[in-house]
Amino acid sequence: MMNYTTQMDAARKGILTPQMETVAKKENMPVDKLRGLVAEGKAVICANKNHKCLDPEGIGSMLRTKINVNLGVSRDCKDYDIEMQKVMKAVDMGAEAIMDLSSHGNTQPFRQRLTSECPVMIGTVPVYDSVIHYQRDLSTLTAKDFIDVIRLHAEDGVDFVTLHCGITRKTIDQIRTHKRKTNIVSRGGSLVFAWMSMTGEENPFYEYYDEILDICEKYDVTISLGDACRPGCLADATDVCQIEELVRLGELTKRAWDHNVQVMVEGPGHVPLDQIAANMKIQQTICMGAPFYVLGPLVTDIAMGHDHITAAIGGAVAAMNGAAFLCYVTPAEHLALPDVDDVREGIIASKIAAHSADIAKGIQGARDIDDRMSDARRNLDWDEQFRCALDPEKAKAIRDSRSPEEDHSDTCSMCGKFCAVRSMNKALSGEYIDIL
Ligand code: SF4
Repeated sequence: MMNYTTQMDAARKGILTPQMETVAKKENMPVDKLRGLVAEGKAVICANKNHKCLDPEGIGSMLRTKINVNLGVSRDCKDYDIEMQKVMKAVDMGAEAIMDLSSHGNTQPFRQRLTSECPVMIGTVPVYDSVIHYQRDLSTLTAKDFIDVIRLHAEDGVDFVTLHCGITRKTIDQIRTHKRKTNIVSRGGSLVFAWMSMTGEENPFYEYYDEILDICEKYDVTISLGDACRPGCLADATDVCQIEELVRLGELTKRAWDHNVQVMVEGPGHVPLDQIAANMKIQQTICMGAPFYVLGPLVTDIAMGHDHITAAIGGAVAAMNGAAFLCYVTPAEHLALPDVDDVREGIIASKIAAHSADIAKGIQGARDIDDRMSDARRNLDWDEQFRCALDPEKAKAIRDSRSPEEDHSDTCSMCGKFCAVRSMNKALSGEYIDIL
């Protein structure tokens, strides 16, 4: 019988849980240091008691930066088997979390399959599922209906839920008077806004927050406080709507911690490069160091078809400045539901951002693999280079498709006979350099 409710409760009671032991080992960190971070809310271990096959990970700015992959079926792409293949591919490629954003069909069997077969953290956005679950129009749903869906997801073993608790009736006036260029671009945020507009009632996720906290405490579901007002374009970045919501997310973080419920805070959005560090600093201050989960940030609005790159640039800068968790973005962002290739490109871009930030932040051992790669490059040891590569499949395919002339097979076809590495190795060992 466990004598604690959540990982945070255990940490505060001085109990070392099996999940803490596993995460501490993965992070090369003394377990008691990790326990202290979880107790303070500066790190979370999203581990629903009903997600039995979970291989736990920690999320926090002192830990390795983690990445999330959004998947799930929609009305236009509704094959759950294809979606499950994408999930397993994403896990193989190193995603630490999968968010199931399914918005079509019977979502529960897929969700239950995820929490019974998938070893990474599973997240959901219950407000999306509410309309699907009840098969009723948004305006007919009651606050209790929304809360019941959160309970359902908690029972199904979901490790973290995005809840748009931070927008209130005041936000409706702000959005109307402030005249943002792109209003609200958060899917969940727009649903909550629409429900409030149609019913005239307060945001149920805000009004019944204490009831939600009871559910999350019981199953140890981490709340990811959604940023409904995240900027959808550079012009809206760091504006009154965004910051006003962030202040409320800070208050809600404190209330969750008082219930021993773990919290992450979601962040922007589209943000100019020069505003990212300030955004991270403001979040860490207002939300008292709760792990920051960023959606991008996208550093320009015009890279349609290439937004995995835009997000990786922003994500690297954000993580270097304190973000703990990056939501991947694929080349299909703003255009379509991603296919398998888009998912692959998005994951690699996000992994590059996370890894680059970990090196810059001085995460212990983060650069070791880069040093191994450099030794392999100097030695022109291609097999070892592929072993160190973030995406060995692509690297190998490129080299194989354009291989060098036979007598220079240790080089590559970029410089061929003029291979600087080869020339230097020979020069330094006193060998003759036969370029021609
Ligand atoms: S040929 Fe040029 S690019 Fe290729 S390994 Fe040698 S120095 Fe590097």
